[in-house]
Amino acid sequence: MNIVRISSFITHSSLKEIGNKILDSFSGIIEEFEVSHHDSFVLDHIDACLLTMILEEEYGGHALGITDADLQTKDEFYKSIFGGKNSKNSIAVVSTKQLSPTRIESDEDYNLFISRTTKVSLHEVGHNLGLTDHPKYKQAKDGTLCLMSRGEFNKFGIDGYIKAVIDGRGFNFCEECKKFLKMVY
Ligand SMILES: [Zn+2]
Ligand SMILES: [Zn+2]
Repeated sequence: MNIVRISSFITHSSLKEIGNKILDSFSGIIEEFEVSHHDSFVLDHIDACLLTMILEEEYGGHALGITDADLQTKDEFYKSIFGGKNSKNSIAVVSTKQLSPTRIESDEDYNLFISRTTKVSLHEVGHNLGLTDHPKYKQAKDGTLCLMSRGEFNKFGIDGYIKAVIDGRGFNFCEECKKFLKMVY
C-alpha cells in the first residue's frame, strides 16, 4: 500500500513508523508499504471525498493519505472528521489537524501526536479491509479499546473524544475483528 503525506509536518521516519505498525497489525494481509510526499499544495482544509479521488488518480490501489489540513464532509453534523474512507475506492485519509496536543514542545508531545495519528490510521485502514465500527466499546485482549471502537462522539466533544476514545485505543483489534480478517483474507 501507499502512505502519502499531503502538506503535513509529520516526519518521514514517523510515516515509516506508522507503516510498520500497519504491517504489524495486518500481518499476512498487508505485506509492504511505500512512503510518498505529495507536497505540491498546501491547504487549510479540503473535502475528504475529493482528496480520496485525487489520491486514487495519482496512486491508485490501496492508499492512506495523511494531512494536516482539516478534512471536511458534506455531513451536517460531522463537518470535519479525523479520518474517513471512500467506499468507492480503497483510499483512506486521516487529518492530524485535531490530533496534535495544543503545543508540540517535547518528545512526549510528539510521540502522543504520532500514536494518535497511528491509531486513527489503523482504524481507517481497517475500514479499507472491510472492518466496521463498534458503536459500543469493545476491548482487545490486552484491555485497551479495539482499534475499531468508535464510541459516542456527541457525548464528549472533540477534546474529550480524543482523550477518551482515541487515547483509549491500543494498537490491537478485538477477537471479533481478528476473526473477520482471518476469515476474509
Ligand atoms: Zn470508523
Ligand atoms: Zn474490534
